[in-house]
Amino acid sequence: MRIVVVGAGIIGAALADRLAARSQDEVVVVEEDAPGAGTSGTSYAWVNANDPADPAYHRLRTAAMSTWRELAAGFGDPAWYREAGNTTWAVTEDAKAELADRVARLGELGYAAELIDIGRLRELEPRVRAPQDALIAHYPDEGYVHGGAVAQALVRRAGDAGAEIVTGRRAVGLNTGGDRVTGVRLDDGRDLDADLTICAAGRHSPALLATADAALPLVDPSEPGSPAPCLVATTTAAEGAINGLVHAPGLSARPAPDGGLVLEAGDLDAGVDEAASPALMRTVGAELLARARALVPKLRAGVAGVRRCTRPLPVDGYPLIGLQRPGLYTAVTHSGITLGPHLALLIEREIRGDAAPELAPYRPGRA
Ligand SMILES: Cc1cc2nc3c(=O)[nH]c(=O)nc-3n(C[C@H](O)[C@H](O)[C@H](O)COP(=O)(O)OP(=O)(O)OC[C@H]3O[C@@H](n4cnc5c(N)ncnc54)[C@H](O)[C@@H]3O)c2cc1C
Repeated sequence: MRIVVVGAGIIGAALADRLAARSQDEVVVVEEDAPGAGTSGTSYAWVNANDPADPAYHRLRTAAMSTWRELAAGFGDPAWYREAGNTTWAVTEDAKAELADRVARLGELGYAAELIDIGRLRELEPRVRAPQDALIAHYPDEGYVHGGAVAQALVRRAGDAGAEIVTGRRAVGLNTGGDRVTGVRLDDGRDLDADLTICAAGRHSPALLATADAALPLVDPSEPGSPAPCLVATTTAAEGAINGLVHAPGLSARPAPDGGLVLEAGDLDAGVDEAASPALMRTVGAELLARARALVPKLRAGVAGVRRCTRPLPVDGYPLIGLQRPGLYTAVTHSGITLGPHLALLIEREIRGDAAPELAPYRPGRA
């Protein structure tokens, strides 16, 4: 079978790696920029199953955490995967009740989640300061990845296994013959024929799918007030400032690949659109740094950069995975960093004719 994968973010890269490893197929990856250059490379990239609300989705995510562990083990001890644990706390009474309930429910599901005291916080994160009366939780099995680096590593391995990697070329349309999608047309006019075309173009997927009259219910990032666009800051070197992920009220932080920190705060994204001005980006960067200095009082780092990012956000929040037309399979999701390698494993099974029941609730055609 000849398979064309459009997009080399975490989803397309993990798929290409899986499919090429089997060497029974001819695999071609088309990426308009470079592997990991899209949302995956700008993501906060927390690998977790921290929400117990939907048990089936929680199971999918815990399976995905195991798949990450196996994938990373296959590369030795890669710098792009760190199962460094996540620490968080609540200060208001409502937030404390919610956190205590979450830890209890996650524990009932067999997920590693514990309430800890401030002494244990000091052992885990010696430079971090939390209020004395905070309720603190720790999730030792959670971690983070560096999305750009992992996409590059997976695409490199797919290439070594025989996949053809076409970078710097955009798929401008899906080719069709009757109802069947027969491949893609590139922006240099070339046609790539395929028995199966996989759309893993992240937030750009609706535009590509529309060329074959296929729709995908993603939140439109250009709508005023859309939750898809956001800003993420990185700091200059801050070695030892934090060891794992830290989610304090008003700030999410984790180590960055070059020794700095990655910083994000949902409330600061309220006025952000895809064209966020340099002035707004500077303001948000300065505020994130101020919050980081409150979290780690000895932090001496400055802002290294602020990145605009756009989440591929399905309207109902759940993955959109499956055949859309004969010859056309779509794989688009939020939480794609957590889910990507595991979805690749399940999708590969489906392509071989073994339907994955775990994916049944997430078909793109659901109402
Ligand atoms: C700020 C932020 C924080 C996040 N935090 C988390 C988190 O903590 N945990 C988590 O699990 N997820 C998180 N996510 C979501 C996660 O990052 C995404 O779900 C995931 O990166 C999507 O991967 P992807 O491969 O689908 O898309 P992308 O990484 O965008 O890859 C798609 C690729 O397709 C290419 N492409 C697009 N159109 C075409 C075309 N026509 N032809 C050729 N190439 C094309 C693009 O160049 C791109 O490289 C976060 C996202 C953001 C923005």
